[in-house]
Amino acid sequence: MMQKIPVQIIDASTFAVDSKIHVRLTEGFFQHLRRLISWPLLCIYFALVWLQVDGQPWLLFDFSQRRILLFGTSLSWHDLPLLAGIMIAGTSLLFFMAVGWGRVWCGFACPQSIWTWVFIRIEQWTEGRANIRARQENQPLNGSLLLRRISKHLLWVSFSIFTAVTFTGYFIPIRELVSDLFTWQAGAGTLGWLTCMAVLTYLNAGLVREKICLHACPYSRFQGVMFDDQTRTVSYDKNRGEPRSSKRSSDGSSGDCVDCGLCVQVCPTGIDIRNGLQAACIDCGACIDACDTVMEKIQRPKGLIRFCSEDQLEKRSSPLWRPRLVGYLLVLLTTCAAVVYGFSGKTELLVEIRRDRGALFHQLNEETICNRYLFKLENFRSERQQFHLSISGLPTATLEGNKTIKQESFGQWLPYRICALKPLPPRSEVSINFQNNGFKLTKNTTFIAINR
Ligand code: SF4
Ligand code: SF4
Repeated sequence: MMQKIPVQIIDASTFAVDSKIHVRLTEGFFQHLRRLISWPLLCIYFALVWLQVDGQPWLLFDFSQRRILLFGTSLSWHDLPLLAGIMIAGTSLLFFMAVGWGRVWCGFACPQSIWTWVFIRIEQWTEGRANIRARQENQPLNGSLLLRRISKHLLWVSFSIFTAVTFTGYFIPIRELVSDLFTWQAGAGTLGWLTCMAVLTYLNAGLVREKICLHACPYSRFQGVMFDDQTRTVSYDKNRGEPRSSKRSSDGSSGDCVDCGLCVQVCPTGIDIRNGLQAACIDCGACIDACDTVMEKIQRPKGLIRFCSEDQLEKRSSPLWRPRLVGYLLVLLTTCAAVVYGFSGKTELLVEIRRDRGALFHQLNEETICNRYLFKLENFRSERQQFHLSISGLPTATLEGNKTIKQESFGQWLPYRICALKPLPPRSEVSINFQNNGFKLTKNTTFIAINR
């Protein structure tokens, strides 16, 4: 006795890998999880650029000043080890996830995937569901279809411009940028960059989509070598699903897969997970959700497609915590600890002192000898600062020059003179103190004198 399965079956040829993929949106646990991760990330991306601390952006890659403003602190070329630490921590996190759970980063948090899902949603609002879009692909263009296509592209272009302006706002303060754009004062370089970013977003998320994941993403390349038989990745349980059949036999000779093709239709990369682990799978879990709805309908246990390892599928022992995973976790934790420690001892003020190269010293009058210097300050806090200068170490010495250095003068060489009364030793150590609201930095230099 054969039983017809109540699942809508769509011509799978319209979802062939080489043709345009019309992704069918589905619902389920992993789609909720993906939204729970991707919406906050999108909001952070669009909001963070507007946040300020003491009038300075929270995050700004300020290459014109050779610094990065990061949550109230400022990183400069001096802090390259810190930046390297942050990058190593990020890479270890990616490796850790890849060894443990495959390409979950790609499926749930990668900007390419998040933007692609947003563009697919827009496509569905304007042109209809995947099967309608697939049908319309080969139909002649009529007025309504043209209108819907134009609306889709206008929305895509608007979202791309919004993305590009926000992205540029991480390099040029966003308020300045937006004001320049609205007053037509943005330079050709800025406009060129914005256009480039908008076009790239439109192409990546609108037109090229999964081909970036398949052919251009370097992460997908090295992930292949990181997987092993214990990696929990999206897998089809062949033992349970085969032999697949669209009609289930009552004698139990058919597997649980009813060959409905839903898992292929919802796949953003257009693959059939039933063919086994594939490099193109970004572990988004859409096929799991789709297949679970089918299993519910046919009253079979969920999880025909699920996150599991090769060993689990073959019913072999499959520990999650193996030496490689623990190793990456240790590297991650160690690097994070080093970065936190590095931030606590970060340079807040850099002072450079140069002696006048023209003369070692000069005699001001019978009793006084002077040395000339150049001072340069660089502030590595994000807020504006001013420092008060004083001198110590040589009892009769006085400092001549601007005793208060304001933010505007940072980064410039400023002239100073130290004078002291005779008799003086040929070389003395002089301390220059830079103070600001309880913060004090002392820099030593040499004072040269010859008593005649
Ligand atoms: S694996 Fe599940 S979703 Fe895919 S064809 Fe079989 S029953 Fe349908
Ligand atoms: S096979 Fe499943 S998990 Fe992999 S990309 Fe396609 S839908 Fe996502």
